[in-house]
Amino acid sequence: MTDHEQVEFTNEQYREFFGPPRREPLAPRSRRLPGGTRLLGLFVAAAMALGGAFALVDAVITNPDIREPADIEAAAWSRVNESPFGFLVSEIRVVPIDDGRVGAFVTNNPPDGIIQIDFRPWTQDRLDELMDHEMGHLVDFALWEPTDPARKNGLGTEAWAECAAVDAGTRLTDPRDPGGEYHCFPDELEIFEETLSQVTEICARWGSRQCRTAEELGLDPGGPANNG
Ligand SMILES: [Zn+2]
Repeated sequence: MTDHEQVEFTNEQYREFFGPPRREPLAPRSRRLPGGTRLLGLFVAAAMALGGAFALVDAVITNPDIREPADIEAAAWSRVNESPFGFLVSEIRVVPIDDGRVGAFVTNNPPDGIIQIDFRPWTQDRLDELMDHEMGHLVDFALWEPTDPARKNGLGTEAWAECAAVDAGTRLTDPRDPGGEYHCFPDELEIFEETLSQVTEICARWGSRQCRTAEELGLDPGGPANNG
């Protein structure tokens, strides 16, 4: 019974999912969720019970031009296919997500590599950020069991995913604390990059179960970002 098939919540996860209002990662950097907004929809709550990890998003995206499910899916795949971590994505589904603030999610109970994206109008830039964030979750799920205390070198789940998007070039680090779980501070980015630099191989624990070496992924095992 090494697989985690039970619904499991650590206190940290519970707080992360049900805690105080969180800033949504795809909003303009200066925007925050309205104070007091803390209830997530039933759909999301159900998905969270399955161990999901989420990306919150503004209800309104400026000048969205990608509207049809097939177009959203294709645009999302275009980013995934550009990413060295794209092999971790087994499927992309465009689905209605009841909670207007949630743009996408992946599940970790068990992880299946399926990214579910809300059926709403998108722009390519927002989808790129979204996919980089979600692929960050998949890297996490591929590398560690959900209960591994060494998981992500202590970075919070959403900070890890945010830093994945920063590392991929579609987001910026946060110069100051935006509140909530969605942030990637410069020191968190360092932890993220150092952690990845020590990875020798990433294997999908789902779907095709493919593996990629650090070299194939373009990760540098020498860790040039480290001091010295
Ligand atoms: Zn997330």
